[in-house]
Amino acid sequence: MILHIDMDAFFASIEQVINPRLKDKPLIIGSRGNKTRTVVCAASYAAKALGIHSGMPSQEAFSICPKLEFVAADQAKYIWTSEQIFQMLKDYDLPLNYASIDEFQLELASHPNPLNLAKKIKEQIYANFNITASVGIAKNWLLAKLASKLNKPDGLTLIDDSNFEQVLRQTSLDKLCGMGGKIGANFIVSGLKTCWDLYLNLPGFFDENQGDGSLKKKTVPGIPKSISHSYTLPTAQINPQVIQAWIRLLSEMVATRLRQQNLVSATAHLWLNGPQIGNFGAQKTRQLATNDGYEIYQRTLKIMAKSAMKNPKIRAIGVTCSSLSRSIYQPLLSEDIRREELINALDRINNRFGEGSIHPAITVLTH
Ligand SMILES: [Mg+2]
Repeated sequence: MILHIDMDAFFASIEQVINPRLKDKPLIIGSRGNKTRTVVCAASYAAKALGIHSGMPSQEAFSICPKLEFVAADQAKYIWTSEQIFQMLKDYDLPLNYASIDEFQLELASHPNPLNLAKKIKEQIYANFNITASVGIAKNWLLAKLASKLNKPDGLTLIDDSNFEQVLRQTSLDKLCGMGGKIGANFIVSGLKTCWDLYLNLPGFFDENQGDGSLKKKTVPGIPKSISHSYTLPTAQINPQVIQAWIRLLSEMVATRLRQQNLVSATAHLWLNGPQIGNFGAQKTRQLATNDGYEIYQRTLKIMAKSAMKNPKIRAIGVTCSSLSRSIYQPLLSEDIRREELINALDRINNRFGEGSIHPAITVLTH
């Protein structure tokens, strides 16, 4: 059995706890701070009831409800809360999976009373964080996740042999994980409307192991302490653009290696060597870990700006990323999702045609 926990309107609920004035109000969380020119990345239940949903341009949301409350997304706060919930769930000493920032799965091999356990977890989450979660229980994660969605918010749903057919008959296909996009659209075109229609056509789809494996014990190979690249220039350089181009190139190289190992880094370190400055090294740690070369580059530039040197001659440059961890978060904000899609596309091109086949324009200055 899988117990799937899905937090209710997670980001919006966290903001409502912090600022009780927002409680029960229609509230949206914007990807960016500009109220009228961003995208809804989360909506409270009062906003959802008006037809406002994530992915909607904020302008459209305000046209539906001019009195809508607005808060700019604070990812660090949501990640922190998510980690606290994860730590709390660890105490149950059951195989635990971090499905996304607001979804967690526990595997119950043989629990005498899964419903009681689910109630206890829901109560504990509410007691500790003042927010609600919906829980679904079923024989595999696909059905458990579906179950968690059926009675939101604050829901508790068990799908077993006794209600399997009834639940699937009542549930439209797009509720099923993975059916929101093109695959679902294709099924709908071919006349399948409910999950039960899908079951009749593809009974194996809901089998015990279908899509499962997420909770199989993952072996975590050792995480390296740091990843770095450095380069010694043929002659000392004073042109800041050329120096920046090298820092960018080294940042991209480090970032590529982070992504290859599915790692993110919270600390960027810049090392410079030159005749006037000798060895200069400084680092900066940010709460949000990254494996985006541009972001690492930006962080190293900030380090350089603070070094109080004005255009020194540079002979060697090193970029190091440390405080490494596994990349487990899906990007939260629509801009970040687009950015990740772009980086993935660049990685695919460079994997196919050789590293550096496609690269940021500034790095041509290193040729
Ligand atoms: Mg959720």
